[in-house]
Amino acid sequence: MAYHIDTGLIYEKFKVDCECPLCEIKRIVEEQFLHEFLNDAVMEDSTRAKVNKLGFCARHFDMLYKRQNKLSVALQISTRVAALSKIVGKENSVKGAIKQAEQIEKAGKTCIICDLTEESMEKYYKTIAAMFSREKNFAGVLSSTKGFCLSHYASLLKYARHAGLSAKQYVAALTTLEEKNIARLQTELKGFCDKHDYRNAYKPLGTSETALPRMRVKLYGLKNE
Ligand SMILES: [Zn+2]
Ligand SMILES: [Zn+2]
Repeated sequence: MAYHIDTGLIYEKFKVDCECPLCEIKRIVEEQFLHEFLNDAVMEDSTRAKVNKLGFCARHFDMLYKRQNKLSVALQISTRVAALSKIVGKENSVKGAIKQAEQIEKAGKTCIICDLTEESMEKYYKTIAAMFSREKNFAGVLSSTKGFCLSHYASLLKYARHAGLSAKQYVAALTTLEEKNIARLQTELKGFCDKHDYRNAYKPLGTSETALPRMRVKLYGLKNE
C-alpha cells in the first residue's frame, strides 16, 4: 500500500486560501487510505495481517463506518477482535491481571490508518523541504500561504534538513511565515473580541467574523470526520 507523493497537489493546496494547506493534503491522503480499506486492496494477506495486529483507532473506525461498504469494515473488525481475544481472557493472578491490562492499553493505541497516513505525510514534509531547495518559484509559493497549523508547522521544522544547503533559508522562511500569520490571526481575533464592545457594534466585522474557527485550525488542525 505505497503512497506516491504528488508535487502537483502541493502546488494546488498551497494556493488554497486556508490556515493550513498540509491539513488539506492530509485529508486527501487519509481519504485515499479509507477508500483502500473499504475496497479490494484490503483483502491482501499482508494488509489483513497488519489490520489484525494494529487495528483502527476510534476516529478511523468511525470514518470507515460512515462510508459505504460496511461488510468490509465488519470483516476486518472481526479478525482484529479475534486477535484481541488472545489478550483478553480469564486470569487468576494479580501479576497476570496487570500484564493483561498493559497489553490492552498498548493494543488500544495502535492504528494502521494513522500509521500509513503519518508515513505519507512524512514524505510530504521531506518533499516540501526538497522543493524549497530545488524549485525556483517554490519559495514564493510558500510565502504566499497563510502558514500552517501548529502540528504541521512543527513537522516541517523537524524535516527542514531535507532542504540540504538551503536548510537555513528554509527555516528562516518557515519561521517568518508562521510568526507573521499567527500575528495576523491574532489581530483578526482581537477584531472579533472588540466587536463585542457596544461602541463597536456598528463596525463591520470583515474577516474577523471567522477568526475563531480559523484559529481552531491554526491551533489543532482541520477537523476531518
Ligand atoms: Zn495542518
Ligand atoms: Zn487512526
